[in-house]
Amino acid sequence: MIMQKDKISIIRRKIKYPRIELKTGVPVLILPQNSSFDETEVLDKHKRWLRQKLEFIEKTKKKYKNQKIYQRSENDLIKLVTSFVDEYSKILEKKPSKISFRYMKTKWASCSKEGKITFNSVMKYLPPRLIRYIVFHEMAHLLVSNHNKNFWRLIKKEFKNYTHYEEQLFGYWFLLLEESPKSKDH
Ligand SMILES: [Zn+2]
Repeated sequence: MIMQKDKISIIRRKIKYPRIELKTGVPVLILPQNSSFDETEVLDKHKRWLRQKLEFIEKTKKKYKNQKIYQRSENDLIKLVTSFVDEYSKILEKKPSKISFRYMKTKWASCSKEGKITFNSVMKYLPPRLIRYIVFHEMAHLLVSNHNKNFWRLIKKEFKNYTHYEEQLFGYWFLLLEESPKSKDH
């Protein structure tokens, strides 16, 4: 496969070694700041891995292209998320210090060190089960901040089949964020 360079964003960050991230489906090559790493060389070295990832993305896109897109107001999303937050606050015995909603380009939600959770407004187009999953996932970060074994163990307690949820969210990402959700009427 020929690597199309325009399909990859290249950024520099304060890290030691080059890294490729695929959070949103668009590969991002992250290079250490002030280093002599050559981007072409790095991409070449990880060509096979990258190709597999890109193939997975294409497959997921196809698989989820006809998923139902829900129509909710932002208010309804806030209500739904708040009810899940309340529910899981009891189970996890931990509450976020604050929750907020805004449009984000790279993630469904995030949890700060101070326990503030930000949800992507685009979640309003998702099925309830995925909204529930995102809420639990972020609230689990109040207890375990990174994606280590303990984190996934905690997730498994509530969502045995969490890899399937993660895949569905990946699929919805392309439906909702690669194209404008406004153009879809279901
Ligand atoms: Zn996470």
